[in-house]
Amino acid sequence: THALLSAEDLHIAFPGRRGGPVARAVDGVDLTVGAGEIVALVGESGCGKTTLARALLGLVRPTSGTVSFDGRPLDYTPRALKAYRRRAQLVLQDPTGSLNPRHTVYDAVAEGLRVHRAPGDERAAVARALSLAGLRPPERFFLRYPHELSGGQRQRVVIAGALVLEPALIVADEPVASLDASVRGEILALLLRLRTEPGLSALIVTHDLGLAWNIADRVAVMYLGRVVESGPVETVLTEPRHPYTRALLSVLPESPLPPAVLTGEPPDPARIPPGCRFHARCPALAAGAAGAAEEAGVAARCVTEQPAPVRGDGVACHLV
Ligand code: SF4
Repeated sequence: THALLSAEDLHIAFPGRRGGPVARAVDGVDLTVGAGEIVALVGESGCGKTTLARALLGLVRPTSGTVSFDGRPLDYTPRALKAYRRRAQLVLQDPTGSLNPRHTVYDAVAEGLRVHRAPGDERAAVARALSLAGLRPPERFFLRYPHELSGGQRQRVVIAGALVLEPALIVADEPVASLDASVRGEILALLLRLRTEPGLSALIVTHDLGLAWNIADRVAVMYLGRVVESGPVETVLTEPRHPYTRALLSVLPESPLPPAVLTGEPPDPARIPPGCRFHARCPALAAGAAGAAEEAGVAARCVTEQPAPVRGDGVACHLV
């Protein structure tokens, strides 16, 4: 598969508050989503994953580095961005009120077609998108209002609104995080079914490794503005190599890994530590520091030298 979407050495910095240091929200990221592939971008809140996702959609312009879609760097002129948004759709969460309570389901789904003046049969396109999103028969939903629908149905309408333009890519930020358990399973099943849609790729942004496991082909784990480990989901989640990935996985209920409790909070992106950005919290380093001379050597590198960034699949750690 060729790369549909790729980021190359992406940096996104925000000016510091009240003249404080610049926050490096995304700090040298390479990431690829292949055609037809589902990639999960995983990390704790504040790790920069949402900022990265927004940059991949052209909603935030990177400070440096390149986002490419279909082999071409994004063009940030309003006209080109509008055309790009048609191919790459953001799926919002309905619980945040992304549906207008005064618009019927039909109008909510048709809106994208109207904004983009898409040619063709609007009614047929809306019906197709609704049935793809599992609202069948679609005509039964056309004239309903959001308040007449269940939470799961509303989330499906939002997804139909993204699918109606037949995008090549959908980007979903925490697609099931605030749904209750039964609805969550329902939407998860829908996202899984969409995998069989020919040519549809997806980037799922989540803090939830279980979701990544269920849905993704590949996973990229982010920590403090960087991808620290990336690879096929079976490899990364069954044989995690980065101490951060290991720690995240070790606290899941069924994990065979010895539990590694991360101490402290992730540092502030305005104060990224020197050396490995994870060193102050790294369980491997804490264990190694007291150990053999060789490990002590690694420990010294951890505090002074940044591991090489992950390009393609790999791990950013001196121990690996
Ligand atoms: Fe831990 Fe060192 Fe690896 Fe960073 S480079 S994750 S501090 S062992």
